[in-house]
Amino acid sequence: MQLSKRLLFLFFLTMASCQLSLESPTLLRAFSQPATSEEVITFSQRAASESDLLSIETLGQSETGIPLVAIKAAADARESETPLRVLIFAQQHGNEQSGKEAALLLISDLAKGKHAHWFSNMELWIVPHINPDGSDENQRRNAGGIDLNRDHIVQLAPETRALHALFRSEMPHVTIDIHEYQPFRESWEEFGAYKTFDVQVGVPTNPNVSNEIKTFALKEALPAIEDHLNGKGFSFQNYIVGPVPTQGRTRHSTVDFDDGRQSFAILGSIAFIYEGINGRDGFVENLERRTYGQYEALLAMLEFLHNNSQRATLISENARQQLKESTPGEKVAIRIEHFPDGSPLLLPLTSSKTGADTLVVVENYHPLVKPTLEVTRPKAYLVPRNDSLLVSFLHLHDIKILENAEIKGSPVIAYHIDRIDMSEDEELPNRFPRVTTRAKEGQNLSEEYLYIPVSQLHSNFLVSLFEPQSMLGLAQRPGFEYLLEERKEFPILRVEPVNTIK
Ligand SMILES: [Zn+2]
Repeated sequence: MQLSKRLLFLFFLTMASCQLSLESPTLLRAFSQPATSEEVITFSQRAASESDLLSIETLGQSETGIPLVAIKAAADARESETPLRVLIFAQQHGNEQSGKEAALLLISDLAKGKHAHWFSNMELWIVPHINPDGSDENQRRNAGGIDLNRDHIVQLAPETRALHALFRSEMPHVTIDIHEYQPFRESWEEFGAYKTFDVQVGVPTNPNVSNEIKTFALKEALPAIEDHLNGKGFSFQNYIVGPVPTQGRTRHSTVDFDDGRQSFAILGSIAFIYEGINGRDGFVENLERRTYGQYEALLAMLEFLHNNSQRATLISENARQQLKESTPGEKVAIRIEHFPDGSPLLLPLTSSKTGADTLVVVENYHPLVKPTLEVTRPKAYLVPRNDSLLVSFLHLHDIKILENAEIKGSPVIAYHIDRIDMSEDEELPNRFPRVTTRAKEGQNLSEEYLYIPVSQLHSNFLVSLFEPQSMLGLAQRPGFEYLLEERKEFPILRVEPVNTIK
């Protein structure tokens, strides 16, 4: 009797664990610890093997050799010929655990057959942990000490390169980069109130990102996410950054495209950043609620995208077409500032003393983003063939090079760096050279230079990076400081359209 009872118990235990096998490992232990990188990989493999919808791919390896897995969700027979392609990637910052956990809940749902209707007109890629080494150590940076979310242009880290290789092969129309913000800082405690939004969502802010993308994201996607989250008991905010309101301005996120949001937006993706709330311990505190906040924000976005799939596809593809057909002479912003619009921000905060809701009026609020310096788009840039760093940069980003372009007949302009001043933008220093331009003569330009046409997908990316005065220029990035030198010629030349030179 005793033995058969025990056998019966074992039998039910086995049954239970079989049924639970499609639950995320973190859910199975009631969110007491986040998933290890090994668990993420094992669980993703199991989910893919149990589902016809899901497949698994390895994008590459982390700095220490951990596989960077991605789950692809796509139905075999789609009603839509051109499905909306969506890429979700989590945990560039290893000490922001809830994005990965939400991704695992989503993978679990899909493996169990939930949300199947999405895949009539969508395809989805989910990268649950793009920084597994950082995740296992609960540290922000990768194992090589690189902040992945400041590495999308130079791409020193294998993790960033793997993510961009996936981007180039799939060209997602929509990207969602999942993070966490840390509200529990001393300065906020002293201020007496802090942010407790469950999820903040940010949209592209760079002036060179397509306006249609920015408007669609801000005016249509964000309200849909907010509605859904509020209905589920989670609070929402259009992502804001800044110190406590008495110590400086509040604005929206950086205009730089070195991150997981704008590096894809400037290539025509409708790109979002999610910023869920972190725990007071920066790790596991409140992990269940943090995870469900991010998860519900993902469900809301995916449902919204499914319902607007044709428009989202068109907005992204139009933006890409416009970049490819961009015309020389158009203005491109190279120095950019955040400005007030005259109205204060009403910021709902939580009192650090009583825990009560409190509304703070932020007068020093800079929601507008405007260019402070623009250049005209050239016809092409000329990159010295003997500059191996620049040449490998072109190859890294798969930038189009015209091998047999005819330079003769088009005016070529070189910048002379007269002197270099310092500037501070977005609360960070950068070099602001004063330049004069000179006509560049020479019979051998084609032999000495690679011809980079600006009418290509990377059009705004190239102008923003290749102009010496750009506050977001390549010369401001690690390893490329040598491009700017006082009293020297800037190595990259401009090919002007014929009719602009008198
Ligand atoms: Zn982050």
